[in-house]
Amino acid sequence: MRSTLIAGNWKMNGSMESVIELVEGIKAGNSGNAKLAVCPPAIYLMKVGGMLEGTDIALGAQNVCDQEAGAFTGEISGAMLNECGAQYAIVGHSERRALYRESDELVAGRFAMAVASGLIPILCVGETLQERDEGITEKVVARQLDAVIERQGISVIGHCVIAYEPVWAIGTGKVATPDQAQAVHRYIREKLAALDTDIAEKVQILYGGSMNSANAGELLSKPDIDGGLIGGASLKAADFLAIGQSA
Ligand code: PEP
Repeated sequence: MRSTLIAGNWKMNGSMESVIELVEGIKAGNSGNAKLAVCPPAIYLMKVGGMLEGTDIALGAQNVCDQEAGAFTGEISGAMLNECGAQYAIVGHSERRALYRESDELVAGRFAMAVASGLIPILCVGETLQERDEGITEKVVARQLDAVIERQGISVIGHCVIAYEPVWAIGTGKVATPDQAQAVHRYIREKLAALDTDIAEKVQILYGGSMNSANAGELLSKPDIDGGLIGGASLKAADFLAIGQSA
């Protein structure tokens, strides 16, 4: 039986004041239905990590460098994230892939460094609207997964969380229907099962894309949807907690 993970991706939002308020609100209402994780902007990781000490709410980063240390301006290493108390690192978010041109290979490198640092990567995969219309959703998702599997082998999937995030549903208010999401989640699990049934059965696959307190219950009731990666609706404690409670 897989547990449920609800992870908030705060993206580049907030201020020191609002972040403190948000964390306090989440801590106060954390009822334990689902495991919660928050991924604040990097500058607030240390602060939020301190505030989450002694709670069962996990800390995640929004990215991690594919290199260990050195002349990589603007990047943050896995070791630095460890120092902040991070347990998770998002890799391959569609905004990184599209806006900052992160290739499948670079994402696989970031994934590898997360694992090497003892972090759990949350590997984001998903198709654009054009790719869905062209009927190549599965091909795109397979390519994004294969970049990681070919580099490190199937066993590494046992150390990660996968987030299926159709790009057309992110920040648009256009949520995938529960059946659309379940179909891709099922596909991912079957693809992994062809390589290792045990790992496929155990890996958590989150859905991300305009998930909110109104649609979460139905999405999370699907057999292969094991949680959510939440953008906009993770910025208000009450909304984020309500998603966790609908699990
Ligand atoms: C995301 O960016 O990972 C995301 C799911 O965003 P939103 O919930 O705002 O669509």
